[in-house]
Amino acid sequence: MSGAGGIQQGPVQFMPATSIKEAEDWAMNNIAQKVRFVPENYSPIELEFANTINESVYEVTKGKKLKGIIYDHPWKIAKAIGRDSVGDMYAALHEDVLYIVRKETLESEAAFKVAISDSLKISKKQFKKTLTELKAYYKTTKNESILKAIKELEKEGSKPWQLSKSRRDLVRHEMGHWVETQSVDLQKITNAHTNKNITNYKKLSEYQNVLNTKTGHWRELSSEYFVSYKNGILDDIPKEILDIFKKMEL
Ligand SMILES: [Zn+2]
Repeated sequence: MSGAGGIQQGPVQFMPATSIKEAEDWAMNNIAQKVRFVPENYSPIELEFANTINESVYEVTKGKKLKGIIYDHPWKIAKAIGRDSVGDMYAALHEDVLYIVRKETLESEAAFKVAISDSLKISKKQFKKTLTELKAYYKTTKNESILKAIKELEKEGSKPWQLSKSRRDLVRHEMGHWVETQSVDLQKITNAHTNKNITNYKKLSEYQNVLNTKTGHWRELSSEYFVSYKNGILDDIPKEILDIFKKMEL
C-alpha cells in the first residue's frame, strides 16, 4: 500500500476513530503534522469531538496538512498564540495551527449548547439595547437611510454571527480562516472591506456581534460565511464569496 509502483493513492475516506489514539494517528496521517488530543496531566478530549475536528479539518484541507491540531489548557494556548489569556475563546487558528481550548463547556455537545444558548440570550438583549441607542442617535442626525436599516434589523432580530451552534460550527469557523489563507481572491475581498471605512455599515454590523476587533471584522464575517456555506445556508452569502467557495470545491 505504500505506493511501491508510484501509484498515488486517492483521498482517504474519513472514518470516525474508535479511540483517541486512533483519532490522533488518523489526524497525523491525513491532516496535521502534529496532533495533541491529550493535554498533559489531563483527561483526553472527548472522542466524538476529536472525530468532529478531524472530519471538519479534512473536508477542507484536501491533502494539505495543518502545522498542528492542539487541544490544551487555556494558558498553554494563550502562551502559544502570544496572549495573556484566551478569555472567552474556544478555538483559534494561529499560524496554521488549529487550537482547541480545553474548557468544561466544550467537553460535551450538550454542555456547549447550554453555554451557547446563555450567551445567545445575552447577545439578543444587547442587540436590542444597542439598536435602541443607535436609533436615538441617528434620529438626531436625521440619517434616513441608516434609520431604515435599523428598522429592518429590528424586524429581523439578532443575527448572532459569532455564535456557533455546535462544536462542528466552531471548528468550521476556524477552518474558514484557513480557507482565507488559501485564497488570494478571498483575501482581496476581505481586505478591501476591512480597509474601507464604511463607518455606518460597521456600526450596524457591530451589533451582529461580528466586530470583535476593528480590523478583524470582515475576516470574522468571511469565516462565518464559510460556516453558513457548509451548513447549506446560502441566502446571506454575497455572490462573490459564494463563487469562491464553489470554485475551491469546498
Ligand atoms: Zn474567527
